[in-house]
Parts: sequence; structure tokens; C-alpha cells
Amino acid sequence: MSDHLRFSHPFYAYCKEALEDIEKQGRYRRFTPLSRQSSHYPVYDRKINTQKETPIVAWSANDYLGMGIEPEVMNAAITAIQKYGAGAGGTRNIAGTHPLHEELEAELADLHEKEAGLLFVSGYVSNQASLQTILTSMSGNWIAFSDQQNHNSMIAGIKGAKSADCVIFKHNDLQDLENKLAAAPKDVAKLLVFESVYSMDGDIADIGAICALARKYNALTYLDEVHAVGLYGKEGGGVSQRDGVADQVDIIEGTLAKGFGVHGGYITAKREIIEYLRLAAAGFIFTTSLPPSVVAAALTSVRLVRLQNWRREKLFERIHTFQRKLKEADIPFIETESQIVPVIIGNAELCKEVSQCLLDKYHIYAPPINYPTVPKGTERLRLTPNPYHTDEMMDNMVKALKTLLLKK
Ligand SMILES: *Cc1c(COP(=O)(O)O)cnc(C)c1O
Repeated sequence: MSDHLRFSHPFYAYCKEALEDIEKQGRYRRFTPLSRQSSHYPVYDRKINTQKETPIVAWSANDYLGMGIEPEVMNAAITAIQKYGAGAGGTRNIAGTHPLHEELEAELADLHEKEAGLLFVSGYVSNQASLQTILTSMSGNWIAFSDQQNHNSMIAGIKGAKSADCVIFKHNDLQDLENKLAAAPKDVAKLLVFESVYSMDGDIADIGAICALARKYNALTYLDEVHAVGLYGKEGGGVSQRDGVADQVDIIEGTLAKGFGVHGGYITAKREIIEYLRLAAAGFIFTTSLPPSVVAAALTSVRLVRLQNWRREKLFERIHTFQRKLKEADIPFIETESQIVPVIIGNAELCKEVSQCLLDKYHIYAPPINYPTVPKGTERLRLTPNPYHTDEMMDNMVKALKTLLLKK
């Protein structure tokens, strides 16, 4: 068959046009391949064509505590690969459950003061699969009340439950949430879906107050603590632990890929909910389980993070130092109590330009965050200082930003 006939399906032409369109709108995403240096985090190596590698300081990683480069964590993975092999070899029900999976699920349940836990291949899948399964149970007679800024994985789960209704409430607006709860029919099951730390603005939900509303209107609560696990509370149990309200939340979801620095997602809840999802969630059942090496590394990481509060203290010392340096230099940023430091640029083109210049001229990596990830006019660099950012790295960043942003 000639290429002309082979590729004559209209989808080929559609893709080409769509790509041109995306390029025209300035929304084409290009990767920046960087290899993390486990001995020098947050330094990454950048290699362009045949040039020598250039060291780059990354400011956008979600491995907030640097657990992914912790020697004990890395060694747990290496040892597990040597003992158990590279992959899991099956789904959880078909030769893919290692004792380590159950150990990690028990550890996470304990962390969040819940009876049981369930691992998923990623945080994304844990949200998508759990929410879709919950909201199609009980004949789909549900209303999900979803925070306006909820992550795409939660929206995907809610939308995937076709018979459930979705009511979006204004971001972190308890009055709006209550109005919408009060207006909803009484005899429909209700689920409140929200996050603790929101990833783009770094603001934090009032979990206790949302749970109080949930009790008043007899709603179930589903909390995404992805950007909080490892970082908040006396053992890194998230904002719900910090605020002493973990037991008021029905389902707490988290990731092993950000604060814990490894990979995978999970939910924790009362045993009957976990068992139901274990038996009913397609996104749990029909996929190969996390490899034992990943589980072993995650388990080691969670145990260290729970015990070692100094990691959280060090992180927040670094964040506060960085915020102080930005302030002294008059660089506009959103000051939050979280680990996320958004530096607002306010224009998509400029944001891209600043980011590219940081990379090429200053060897600093901070990708532009543009529409539709954030509203137009609030384009930004989302900076995440970690315990390994030195004063010197911070000073270089501040100096570069000062030159690029305040030169006019
Ligand atoms: C990153 C993220 C997820 C997905 O977690 P992964 O483990 O990366 O798949 C879920 N929720 C929120 C709020 C996130 O930012």
C-alpha cells in the first residue's frame, strides 16, 4: 500500500491541523529533557544535541522533600529489584500482590488514621477510578459538589460517572458551598470533593469547616491531599493531620510521587469503602500493580518522613528564607503558608520568554504556567523551593528574576 493510501484516514489530517492551531495559539508544549543528579539535587543536567551537559538548577520539582534521592529510599528500590525483579508481573488479583503492597497500604491507613488503604498506579488514577466508582454506585443517584479549582483527575472521575450530577462551588468559598448544598434535593447522596493544598496558588482549604458542612447536609467527604502528604502534620499526614480533623474526612487520597518522592497513588478510608473500591474500581482491578521496587522505596520513604520532623522544618525554613529574599528584592509573588511560591508574570508571552531566558542564560529551570492551567492575566512561574536549595541558588534566582522582571 502506498503511504498516500495508508495515511488517508481523516484523523491524520485532523491531527496536523489541530497541531498547527495549537502552535498558532502559543499553546504548543515542548519538553525540556533534564536528567536529575541524585548526588546534587536540585541540580539537573541539560544536554542539547552534541554539546557537553550543562548543570541546571530546577525550581519546579514536586519532590518537595527530596525523598526521591534519599540513599535509604534508593537502596530499598535497588534491593527489591535484585530480590524480586523489575516489574510486578500481574494485576493485584493475578500474581501482582506482593506482601509489600499490603504493608504499604497498612502504613498509609495508619498515617491518615483510617482503617484501610488501597494503592493505585498513580495519584491521577486513584482519583479518577475512585470517584467514578463511588458516583456510579447506588444506581448513580449522587450529586458531587466539586471545588472550582479541583485537579483534572477528580474532574475526570466525576465526569466519568454519567448519571451523577456535578455542582461546582466557588474555590474555597464555604458560603457558596452551603448555598448549593441547601438548594440540592435531600434524598440524593452527596459527595464533597476538594483538595487541601491547591497546587497553583498554594492556598489551603478549611477542612474542618467543610466537614462540618458535610455533617449538616449529610454528605460524604473526599479529600485530595496530594500536595500536602509528607509536608504537614506531625508525621506528614497532610493538612487534615495538622488541623486534627483527619477522622472527620471519609476518604483521604494521596500520592507517593510528590512529598514522598517515589511513585503511585492511594486512598484511605473505613474498611467497607476500601473493600468496595478494591472489588469494584476498574482502574484498580485491570492494571498491573506497582512494581515491588517502587513499593519498597515508597514504604521506606513514608516511614522516614513520618519519623523525621526535621525534614519538614528544614523545608519550611528554606521556603521562608526564599520568600524573604523575594520580598527584599520587590519581586511580586503570592505569599502563602504552603510550599508553593507563585511568581506572577501576568502575560503568556512574557512568561514563556522569562522562563526560556532563565534556562538559557541563567541555567535555572522554572517552566511557564499559562492558560488554561491558570486564568489569563495570572500567568506565572510556580516555584517550589526544597531543602536542598542553598542560599546561593536562591540569590541567583532572585537576581535573575530582578533583572528579567524589574528592568523597565
Ligand atoms: C499531581 C496531582 C495528582 C496526581 O498525582 P500523580 O501521582 O502525579 O498521578 C492528583 N491531584 C492533584 C491535586 C495533583 O496535583
